Amino acid sequence: MAMVINMKDERLRKANSYVNKVYEEVTKRNANEVEFLQAVKEIFHSLTPVFARNPQYIENGILERIVEPERVISFRVPWVDDYGKVKVNRGFRVQFNGSIGPYKGGIRFHPSVNASIIKFLGFEQIFKNALTGQAIGGGKGGSDFDPKGKSDAEIMRFCQSFMTELSKYIGSDVDVPAGDIGVGAREIGYMFGQYRRLRGNFDSGVFTGKGVGYGGSLGRTEATGYGCVYFVNEMLQDRGLSFEGSTVVISGSGNVSIYAIEKAQEFGAKVVACSDSGGYIYDEKGICLDTLKHLKEVERNRICEYVKEHPHAQYREGSEGIWSIPCDIALPCATQNEIDEESAKLLVKNNVKAVGEGANMPSTLDAIDVFLENNVLFAPGKAANAGGVAVSALEMAQNSSRISWDFEQVDEQLKQIMMNIYRNSVQAAEEYGEPGNLVVGSNIAGFIKVADAMMIQGII
Ligand code: NDP
Repeated sequence: MAMVINMKDERLRKANSYVNKVYEEVTKRNANEVEFLQAVKEIFHSLTPVFARNPQYIENGILERIVEPERVISFRVPWVDDYGKVKVNRGFRVQFNGSIGPYKGGIRFHPSVNASIIKFLGFEQIFKNALTGQAIGGGKGGSDFDPKGKSDAEIMRFCQSFMTELSKYIGSDVDVPAGDIGVGAREIGYMFGQYRRLRGNFDSGVFTGKGVGYGGSLGRTEATGYGCVYFVNEMLQDRGLSFEGSTVVISGSGNVSIYAIEKAQEFGAKVVACSDSGGYIYDEKGICLDTLKHLKEVERNRICEYVKEHPHAQYREGSEGIWSIPCDIALPCATQNEIDEESAKLLVKNNVKAVGEGANMPSTLDAIDVFLENNVLFAPGKAANAGGVAVSALEMAQNSSRISWDFEQVDEQLKQIMMNIYRNSVQAAEEYGEPGNLVVGSNIAGFIKVADAMMIQGII
C-alpha cells in the first residue's frame, strides 16, 4: 500500500514540476501579456492531476504545444471617417488550436483590444468549444476600433476594410468567426457582405451570428444569455435552490446580459441591476426589459437614460459598484476582470449563493478563490457561456445542410448541451479529486478531449 501511495505521490510531483516548468517558459515568452498569462495560469493549475494520471501527455509535449497558437495574424485596418480623415486600427486573428475542428470564435471591437486579450480569449475558446461536444477548434479575433459614437457609414467602411484582410484566412472549413463585444448583427452583416463580394460566392458557413434572413440561426441571439441561465439553473437545482423568487444582479447590458435577464425573469427571478461601462441601474421593482432592449438594441443609447422612463430607479456612476448590491445570484456578463477580490468579498458578505460567468474571465483569480473558499456555487465562463458558440455550431450545421430549424428545436438542443457541459464538468471534478469544483472540472473535461486529438495527430 505504501508503495502505491509513493508511486502516486511521485507521479503528482513530476506532473507538478512539468506544469510549473512550462508555465515559467510561457511567462518568459509572453512577459507583457497579462490577460493571456492569467487565463493560462487558471487552466494549468487545474491540470496537474491529469498529467499525473496520463504521463503520455507529458512525453508528447501537449502543454508546450497547446499554449502556443497555431497561428497569430496581425494586420493594418485603414479606413476613412465621415470627415475624410484617414484612420488606422490594428486587426487580429488568433487561430489557436484546430485539432478537433475548424477554428471558431468571435470578433471583438473595443479600444482595449490587443494581442494579450485576443490570445486569452482564443486560449479559453479551445476548451470551451471542446466542452460543447461539437467539432470546433479554438480561435478569436478583433480590433482596437471603438464603435461607440461612429456613424453607420463609418462602421460599414471599417468592417469592409477589416474583412478585406481577414478574408484571406477564413472559410467554412478553415476558420469561422462570429460576434463578441462591439460586434453584433449590424457588424456581422457588413463583414459577411464584404466577404461575399470578395469571394464571389455565397458561403453562408463562413460566419455565424448572421441575420436569420440570410443564413443565421433562430436562437443564436439569445443563446449565450439563455445558456448561462440554463447552466446556473442546473447548478442551483443540485443544491436544492432555484431562480424562482431570487434576487439577481447581472452586469453589462449587451447581448449576453439582455438575454440572461430575459431567461432569469422567465424563471421567476427579480433582476434588480444591470450596467454599462459608464455606471449601473438599480431598480428595486425589477429591471424593465422592454425599456432596456429599446435603449440598447434600437437606440444604442447609454444606460443612464433608463431612469427617464423609470424615475423610481437609481443610476449610479462607476460600473464596478454594481457588486455592492445584495443579491442571491450574480451573473457577470460584461467583460474580463470586472469582479476583483474586493468585489467578491462584498458579494460573499451580502450572502450571494451562486455566481455564473456569462462574460469571459470576468472574475480575477483572487475573486474565484474567494468564491470557492466561501462555498459559493461558481460557474466558470468557459462552461457557463458556451451556449453562444454551441448554437453557432448548430448554425454551421444548418448552413451545410441548407435547412433551418425552428426556435424551439434550437433552444431544446441548447438546453441539452448546457446540461451535458454541466454534468461532464461535475463528473471530471469528482474523478480528479475536486468534487464540486467546476473550474477544475470544466478545464479538465475540455482539455482531455483536445489533448487526445493532438496525441493522435502527431507532433504538429
Ligand atoms: P456587447 O458588446 O453586446 O455588450 C458588452 C456589454 O458590457 C455592454 O453593456 C458594455 O458597455 C459592457 N462593458 C464592456 N466593457 C466594459 C467595462 N470595461 N466595464 C463595464 N462594462 C463594460 O458584448 P457581449 O454581450 O456579446 O459580450 C459580453 C461578454 O460575454 C464578453 O466577455 C464576451 O467575450 C462574452 N461572450 C459573448 C458571447 C456572445 O455570444 N456574444 C459568447 C460568449 C462569451 P458599453 O456599451 O458601455 O461598452
